[in-house]
Amino acid sequence: MTKKIAVLPGDGIGTEIVEQAIKVLDFLNTDMNLGFEFENGLIGGAAYDVHGTPFPQQTIDLVKPADAILLGAVGGYKWESLDISVRPEKGLLGLRSTLNLFSNLRPAILYPQLADASTLKPEVVSGLDLMIVRELTGGIYFGQPRGVRVLENGERQGFNTATYTESEVRRIGHSAFRIAQKRHKKLCSVDKANVLECTEFWREIMIDLSKEYPDVTLSHMYVDNAAMQLVRAPKQFDVIVTSNLFGDVLSDCASMLTGSIGMLPSASLDEHGKGMYEPIHGSAPDIAGQDIANPLATILSVAMMLRYTFNNEAAALRIEKAVNDALDSNVRTADIYAAGTQKVSCSQMGDAVVSALKNRG
Ligand code: NAD
Repeated sequence: MTKKIAVLPGDGIGTEIVEQAIKVLDFLNTDMNLGFEFENGLIGGAAYDVHGTPFPQQTIDLVKPADAILLGAVGGYKWESLDISVRPEKGLLGLRSTLNLFSNLRPAILYPQLADASTLKPEVVSGLDLMIVRELTGGIYFGQPRGVRVLENGERQGFNTATYTESEVRRIGHSAFRIAQKRHKKLCSVDKANVLECTEFWREIMIDLSKEYPDVTLSHMYVDNAAMQLVRAPKQFDVIVTSNLFGDVLSDCASMLTGSIGMLPSASLDEHGKGMYEPIHGSAPDIAGQDIANPLATILSVAMMLRYTFNNEAAALRIEKAVNDALDSNVRTADIYAAGTQKVSCSQMGDAVVSALKNRG
């Protein structure tokens, strides 16, 4: 049966890096007879230029029936002065809410070949491989009431509301437990249950859910301790599940352990495993059009797509091993270049991953 992948390169380096990821996926599609069909669409500034909106109806019609979406990045200097309602980034938010992508997966992986790129000591981060599962569509970012009000004494007060319904916690919990099952079966739920009732409730539901996943070991950690542990001993974690706000902060912290923004993929999933896959970085307008961007985050996003939407662990592992082999062969794009390695372009890095796939068979 054919499976449809909507390809949205977006802006800036988006087109360059997505081209390399499709090169890799195209090779596997033929080699493993995966039955993928690709269709391209516009999003972000590129869509605004043609349709006057960053998330046009044509793109909505493309992504809704698709099995998965591969996205490059959106944004750039050209669109910065536009009204906020039509800025490229709105296209991304539209995509997330239209498809109800509530589960955001952000791995932090440090390839041993790049251990020196981290600001932490190599022995602390070398071989790091953890996954943060962040709830993406609820919590204090969306809770009502919110705003700025004037109190009886005349003083102004800013306020937001942290809320989670039981069904919201249950669905992100199920998503995280299933991901832990595909990894090392350790799940750490991060909350602030000692202070916030909303997260005490979160913890209670995670404990209840754990009965359905006896093969996964569940632990709990307060968010302040989790931040400390991420920089003290990050290799203790396998999968972390947390709320929108805590996940926002912790996932950026974790990504920097690896020291290279061009290496990190991400996924945003709905309840049925349909997902949007994209590198964590932006459109890098400062280097766009020069064929020097690092395509590996996007290539690794394709590996996540194969694992989490198409349940094809063998194909996902082939890509991850090929990326490892390419790094072993000493090729590096400019962002991860170090003395003694060979500097290559974006497209040459894509070629190196395809050659590694061919060589391994
Ligand atoms: P950025 O991630 O685009 O770039 C930050 C720095 O990292 C730049 O110096 C850039 O050259 C470098 N960089 C990023 N990706 C790289 C890669 N693959 N290879 C080599 N170097 C890489 O963040 P920014 O500069 O803050 O934002 C630029 C634009 O991207 C803005 O319009 C912003 O809104 C948008 N943005 C989009 C997304 C997204 O599409 N998901 C995410 C973040 C930022």
